[in-house]
Amino acid sequence: MQQEKNGTSGVSFPIPEGARHILDVLGGAGYEAFVVGGCVRDSLMGRVPHDWDITTSARPEQVKALFRRTVDTGLAHGTVTVMDGKEGYEVTTYRVDGKYEDGRHPSGVTFTASLREDLLRRDFTMNAMAYNQEKGLQDPFGGLSDIQNKTIRCVGDPVQRFSEDALRLLRAVRFSAQLGFDIEERTREAIKQLSPSLSRISAERIASELEKILLSPHPEDMQKAWELGLTKVFLPEFDVCMATPQNTPYHCYSVGGHILQTLRYIRCDKVLRFTMLLHDIAKPECRITDERGIDHFYTHDIKGAEKAQEILRRLKMDNETINQVTALIRWHDYRPLPQMAAVRKAVNRIGEELFPLYLEVQRADCLAQSDYIRRETLDRIAGVEKCFHAIQEEGQCVSLKTLAVSGKDLIAAGFPPGKELGAALEYLLSKVIEEPSKNSREQLLELLKELPGNKSGQKSPLSGEIA
Ligand code: ATP
Ligand code: MG
Repeated sequence: MQQEKNGTSGVSFPIPEGARHILDVLGGAGYEAFVVGGCVRDSLMGRVPHDWDITTSARPEQVKALFRRTVDTGLAHGTVTVMDGKEGYEVTTYRVDGKYEDGRHPSGVTFTASLREDLLRRDFTMNAMAYNQEKGLQDPFGGLSDIQNKTIRCVGDPVQRFSEDALRLLRAVRFSAQLGFDIEERTREAIKQLSPSLSRISAERIASELEKILLSPHPEDMQKAWELGLTKVFLPEFDVCMATPQNTPYHCYSVGGHILQTLRYIRCDKVLRFTMLLHDIAKPECRITDERGIDHFYTHDIKGAEKAQEILRRLKMDNETINQVTALIRWHDYRPLPQMAAVRKAVNRIGEELFPLYLEVQRADCLAQSDYIRRETLDRIAGVEKCFHAIQEEGQCVSLKTLAVSGKDLIAAGFPPGKELGAALEYLLSKVIEEPSKNSREQLLELLKELPGNKSGQKSPLSGEIA
């Protein structure tokens, strides 16, 4: 007997082998089973889904009975992970969420026999579709048409849906940035109205959505998060930037407007995008207006690095990211001349690993300013980059790592161990940074005799011991 087709006709897409096998086994045992959510949305859009979730009428214990290898991922929520080789597929029983009492989590879940009810609990119409090859697309809320119109729309009443789970407020902006969609008007108005409730959501979950916005094709959609009152909750410093003008010939946007532009110009990379988001975060507090009415932002790089560290810690970011971002912010406004010695000094300060990122930050920063002296600035950055490559190709010494003498060498040559040893090495390094040809053991040990503080007549700690 032919199965009744009640899905949207004509819509079909491939399902990977592993997921298909699971659908077949569940179907063969008499249960309903569909791929659901993000993978359906992405397949319909021609995007590659990163995971394939399955929804089924089978209860968790029934799912477990049918497969050899399963993991109890979230039994209370009806989720079992079915292993297929190394691949895991989350199989979740049709469910209805209980009351949301805290605006974050349902107080419990109830299983249901109805796919429609399961789709009803999902956030947006584009995420509330299911599909299998037999029954086709199950799309009770017009998700496909919303995808075609590039629209993000809540399933049901937006105010109610956002009141249930405040994370959805930020998810709407995140999907908008990832997919290039607009947020439908009633959905948008509800976000505005309920934005303060985002404060109930943990820093980790907010940071994860923020990261997805920043790493999307539209990081400048941070503007939407601001317009809808969301940044005010998790990044109020950004709202202050949006309200801070920059009256200088270098700029044509507010501080916040400039930040948004830099996000467009910087490569898609976690450290780089967070750096641009926060690079001028201390400008509002550093702003002074001179007698001609021109704004200055002295020390905003140093203060910005401190403030960024505070913000990223608040967002529970990992230390590695925090360290790199704050270092890049500390140096983002440092402008060496395109001359070898000046660039060696800059590389020594910023670090060889971070230096290429620093150059990218400077370019994005420049492109997001007014066109006043833009050509000159870009030429200078290109010149610095050329010097940096030459330094690397020639293997010139820019740090103690490649200095021709080490602390041990100095001690072996008779220099007393202690605090002055470090200072002596730094002194020798500064000489080598000025003049790379001095990076030989003999010359450096000789130079040591000229160590500042080693006044003529006084005995050098090494005098007499160096041949
Ligand atoms: P991606 O994995 O690409 O970020 P996704 O749509 O798969 O997007 P997930 O967070 O993996 O998002 O969630 C899977 C599905 O679960 C969603 O498509 C949606 O149907 C549902 N869902 C997830 N989070 C929520 C939520 N906070 N409220 C309602 N439904 C949700
Ligand atoms: Mg997903």
